[in-house]
Amino acid sequence: MTSPSLYWLRNDLRLADNAALTAAAAQGPVIVLYVLDDETPGSWRLGGASRWWLHKSLEALSAKVELVLRRGPADKVIAEVLTESGAGSVHFTRDYAPWSGEIERRIKSVCDAAGAGCHRYGGFLLHEPESIRNGSGEPYRVYTPFSKACFAAGEPRPLKKVPKLSAWSGTLKSDRLSDWGLQPTTPDWAKGMAAHWTPGEAGAAVRLTEFIADGLEHYADERDRPDRDVTSRLSPYLHFGEISPAQCWHAVRAAQTAAGGKLDRVAEKFLKEVLWREFSYHLLHHWPTLPEKPFRPEFSAFPWSDNPKGLKAWQKGRTGYPIVDAGLRELWATGIMHNRVRMIAASFLIKDLLVPWQDGERWFWDTLVDADIGSNAASWQWVAGCGADAAPYFRIFNPVLQGEKFDAQGAYVRKWVPELAHMPDEFIHHPWEAPALVLKAAGVELGKNYPHPVVDHGMARDRALAAFKEIKGSA
Ligand SMILES: Cc1cc2nc3c(=O)[nH]c(=O)nc-3n(C[C@H](O)[C@H](O)[C@H](O)COP(=O)(O)OP(=O)(O)OC[C@H]3O[C@@H](n4cnc5c(N)ncnc54)[C@H](O)[C@@H]3O)c2cc1C
Repeated sequence: MTSPSLYWLRNDLRLADNAALTAAAAQGPVIVLYVLDDETPGSWRLGGASRWWLHKSLEALSAKVELVLRRGPADKVIAEVLTESGAGSVHFTRDYAPWSGEIERRIKSVCDAAGAGCHRYGGFLLHEPESIRNGSGEPYRVYTPFSKACFAAGEPRPLKKVPKLSAWSGTLKSDRLSDWGLQPTTPDWAKGMAAHWTPGEAGAAVRLTEFIADGLEHYADERDRPDRDVTSRLSPYLHFGEISPAQCWHAVRAAQTAAGGKLDRVAEKFLKEVLWREFSYHLLHHWPTLPEKPFRPEFSAFPWSDNPKGLKAWQKGRTGYPIVDAGLRELWATGIMHNRVRMIAASFLIKDLLVPWQDGERWFWDTLVDADIGSNAASWQWVAGCGADAAPYFRIFNPVLQGEKFDAQGAYVRKWVPELAHMPDEFIHHPWEAPALVLKAAGVELGKNYPHPVVDHGMARDRALAAFKEIKGSA
């Protein structure tokens, strides 16, 4: 029997443009292994929404290729599979989570002990985090020069085709996906997500095509509008590697070329957003404590308040601030939240409620289908003002003005906060200021079917600025 190679699937749940799979396939028969490792990431084991997505994605992939599913620490499982199969090599895509470097080193030792080759490939990012350095050879801390360096590094490598896979003639035991319990039982909180998403490589390809056809041309001007569907919604697909950033990049470049210059501005804008993802991973790689500790150490002394009631109201979308509540409810219903609303909601939690950014980050980790250790940590730190190249702490979003600016007719709020559906535009973002007759006509009873604001924004703003002053001296 020809000795197989082992391809270890991670956040690269696709067949196309997959260097690790292509290299494994070039050597002969391939065993495709997915390991559900809840131990190695510690408290960052996959959250609920991610587990739902993973189940669907593995289900989709198993329709195309035979998967061996195992559970446990990845190095231990790979050692077992090497022994059971006699595989001569292991191939995998590099991952950048803080715990991944150590597990990759352990897998190398396991391979060495078994006399098997150990091969790691890029693909989750466009550029390896070590390859982009500033003039002094240091990692970047500021996005704009980082993105310029990425553009200067040239276009991503050409894409890889789906390799021809030959199955191994041996057999290995595999868990049943349904036994992993990744899906919710009762209550089935994932119903709305199922209606909204098609996880898997095919779903990713459809989403990219639709975005290029319908969203891209409006992207630069309307991407901040939560009531418009112009952003790509590719983030969960990118996170799970059902599509590679290089595939997105090349597809947008091809559309730009075909449009003969008409899409230049919007394409550049989109690619710059993809580079925010790269920047997040650049930061995470060089500062692996990013998910837990403020990048700016003076923020460790920030006087947060112990506010479990505020956190609960925020999580449930019952703060009394319509744009914040709409975002949190969109998140709960669909597993996603529009980027602009993420910024508003995060600012509200951190600055109006003085809840530590890490609590919001954890909630997103559990509820987002695109929950991503790099982008989530970097973005929460950005909003909190304690990250690299962050929004300054004193820039505190006013949830009413933000709502009026980016959801002027309140369509987004009406969709996700149906209690306010009949409020006139004038008061949709601040119903507490509406005259009693207006509230009555709209069927809104504050304190009954929609909450009073949990905090007064003006007061909260002053309080946040005073708290910031306390740590400023140590900056
Ligand atoms: C508090 C907060 C938490 C966030 N948590 C996550 C997270 O866990 N996972 C995640 O993928 N994104 C996160 N983001 C970034 C951003 O909100 C999402 O990437 C974006 O909303 C996804 O929608 P889209 O695919 O339609 O984006 P598009 O606008 O179509 O952008 C294309 C791609 O670029 C990347 N991208 C865009 N904006 C950013 C950004 N600011 N930072 C990093 N990458 C970006 C994403 O991969 C995205 O799919 C967070 C932002 C905030 C403010």
